[in-house]
Amino acid sequence: MLSISHGLTGAFFAAQLQDPILYVPIALFSHYLEDWIPHWDMGTGLSDGKRTRSAAIILGSIELSIALGAIFFLWGSPTLANYHIWLGAFIGLLPDFLEAPRNFLHWEPSFLKSINKFHAGFHHSVPNKVLGLVPQVLLWGIIIALTISK
Ligand SMILES: [Zn+2]
Repeated sequence: MLSISHGLTGAFFAAQLQDPILYVPIALFSHYLEDWIPHWDMGTGLSDGKRTRSAAIILGSIELSIALGAIFFLWGSPTLANYHIWLGAFIGLLPDFLEAPRNFLHWEPSFLKSINKFHAGFHHSVPNKVLGLVPQVLLWGIIIALTISK
């Protein structure tokens, strides 16, 4: 899924649970669960040559910036008081960060191969943007509604 989806999910669980022993494994598990749901993201089309690496890097960076902006908007800037939010977001995004060197630079340290293979086993991309974005927009709506209503 998009960084917005993974980042908001990790931050949301951290905001709710406030204890890394609880939210770190849940944020990590949520990443694999979300990637298992058919979706569209910035890496879609990269493996079959429909998107260039440079385009994916640029779009992925912009999208990650939007994700960080959304987290900032909902929960505020990183401080000692709310480090849970940003740690949760980081953990929610971690599998994609670990995969980024392989996807964007064609460089994969050997210690990451099994982790990235595990991650790839969950991934279900769909080329149709509408079908691939609907579950994510629903997810964003639920997280935003639950967060703002508190
Ligand atoms: Zn992923």
